[in-house]
Amino acid sequence: MVAPLSYWHDSLDPGDPDVRRPPLGGDRDADVAIVGAGFTGLWTAYYLLRADPNLRVVVLERETAGFGASGRNGGWCVADQAAPLAALERAGGPGGAAAMVHELHRTVDEVGEVAEREGIDCGYAKGGALLFAASETQLARLRKRLEDHRRHGLGDAYSLLTAQEVDGIVHAAGIRGGLFTEHAAALHPARLARGLATAVERLGGVVHEGTAVRAIEPGRAVTDHGTVRAEVVVRATEAYTPSLEGHERTILPIGNFMIATEPIDDATWAGIGLARRELFEDTQTLLGYGQRTADGRIAWGGLSAPTWWRSRVPPSPMAAPHVAERLRRLLVRRFPDLRDVGVTHHWGGVLGVPRDLRPGVGLDRGTGLAWAGGYFGQGVAASNAAGRTLRDLITGTDSELLRLPWVGHRSRPWEPEPLRWLAVHTVTTLARVHDRVDARR
Ligand SMILES: Cc1cc2nc3c(=O)[nH]c(=O)nc-3n(C[C@H](O)[C@H](O)[C@H](O)COP(=O)(O)OP(=O)(O)OC[C@H]3O[C@@H](n4cnc5c(N)ncnc54)[C@H](O)[C@@H]3O)c2cc1C
Repeated sequence: MVAPLSYWHDSLDPGDPDVRRPPLGGDRDADVAIVGAGFTGLWTAYYLLRADPNLRVVVLERETAGFGASGRNGGWCVADQAAPLAALERAGGPGGAAAMVHELHRTVDEVGEVAEREGIDCGYAKGGALLFAASETQLARLRKRLEDHRRHGLGDAYSLLTAQEVDGIVHAAGIRGGLFTEHAAALHPARLARGLATAVERLGGVVHEGTAVRAIEPGRAVTDHGTVRAEVVVRATEAYTPSLEGHERTILPIGNFMIATEPIDDATWAGIGLARRELFEDTQTLLGYGQRTADGRIAWGGLSAPTWWRSRVPPSPMAAPHVAERLRRLLVRRFPDLRDVGVTHHWGGVLGVPRDLRPGVGLDRGTGLAWAGGYFGQGVAASNAAGRTLRDLITGTDSELLRLPWVGHRSRPWEPEPLRWLAVHTVTTLARVHDRVDARR
């Protein structure tokens, strides 16, 4: 087993230029400076340039486009958000939660349409997602989720499946039932991120890699290579935000790890199912999420949530062999036919968790500072909606997007250390213990 940045980076389009884009070469002026070339930064640049090709848009990336969570995630393009629906309803008023989720349903299609339009070969397949339950506790959790959605006018979001109906989609051991949503697509995240960076350049945007921004201030993004002066500066740094001056407690970086199997032969796939490349999730508290990749592997992650003292993100590539082994064991428990299938890749990444679990997107017109993020483990689709929302905020275009309940939202800051580490570590340890007890039952 090797530990590259991720399996996805190891399987980029052969045509993907494996060279770093040049760093910023001194001071320059722009209309919009975007810090971070993950999905949030790149979608924002993409939609701004589509709206107004004359805008001077400069993206500043410390490493390479797609280096962060955007290049390493599970490739679940789904409408879920960690934010409780009730909180969205409180923020947006009656219908606010449904408006948000329905926008994310549309977003799943939008991502596929852009990939198609821009010729991004990211293996997009809208086969839906299946959340399965292997215990009464998990089944109860799924029922509660369904009821919660129905209560908020989202009866169309999920349908409850019996064990037999689940078996019609995937033959997994020990399953008692599940929830299915059609609003979900599997994709290759690094190919999407890299393809977007190229699309941004094609539209006239500039992407500087190897350019760390030290400070974001009204009207400028300051780097060791020079300063970009711009009317609007967008912070799109998600889990890495605490490394920016003044943002130490804005968001909490939490780790997450994945494995990928070797390609699985057709006969074994016939026994497993997932014929439409449906995404699948094991509904533990520290859940496991998987996809059948376009090249016939299983990419499978979750089951852990490490956090670090003072929110210091460890260097990449990231690995946690004990988590990889836990992931392999659960995968084989669900799919015994995979017993002899090798695991070729193991990697980790960091997701950004806001204190109130609610992502936000906004622009302070007084300072010209804009932000988007706090998606927790659900940023693939949400970052696209955030990019379109930032486009409308920055270009001053009124739209329905601007009335969604996450617009203008900023979470309160996390507690200082040692409280922060202790509290989060305790919660995640309890979750792991809970899952173990549940599995033994
Ligand atoms: C293992 C894992 C699995 C996940 N699975 C899913 C999933 O299946 N579905 C889903 O919806 N979500 C998933 N997520 C979450 C999702 O990947 C993120 O929410 C999303 O990619 C965030 O995109 P972003 O552009 O905001 O952040 P990132 O992709 O992290 O991009 C931030 C970028 O900013 C750069 N940067 C940071 N600081 C600076 C600086 N000072 N100067 C310049 N550049 C800087 C970083 O190098 C990075 O490239 C997962 C996350 C992880 C880690």
